[in-house]
Amino acid sequence: MKRGYLVFVSDEEYVVAVVATSSKEAKKLAIKNDIYDLFCDCDFTEIKVKWQKEGKVEDLPIGVVEDAIKALERNIYGYIDGFDCPVCGNETILSNINGKVMCSECEDKLEDKTEP
Ligand SMILES: [Zn+2]
Repeated sequence: MKRGYLVFVSDEEYVVAVVATSSKEAKKLAIKNDIYDLFCDCDFTEIKVKWQKEGKVEDLPIGVVEDAIKALERNIYGYIDGFDCPVCGNETILSNINGKVMCSECEDKLEDKTEP
């Protein structure tokens, strides 16, 4: 079964979203496709893997999810920083709000609209 994983170096500052069938496979894939050059200087044992149980990845291919917004949309990432909000276009911190990626300002507007 495919699962969403976060692969990161111990301090968890930089993380990579990976779709794999096991944590071992996720780690291997992240190292093989080191898109952010995170793992080149570190020891294999320093690299950690966390299964994101909320991840919805059944239809995604096995491998590193290079599109951070997609990884957020699928609940592999909890939030992302420094990306353009797909709703208002501001570069800021984005979250997944009920399956839609947006910034906190857009989330506030959404709440205003849904209040009676
Ligand atoms: Zn926004």
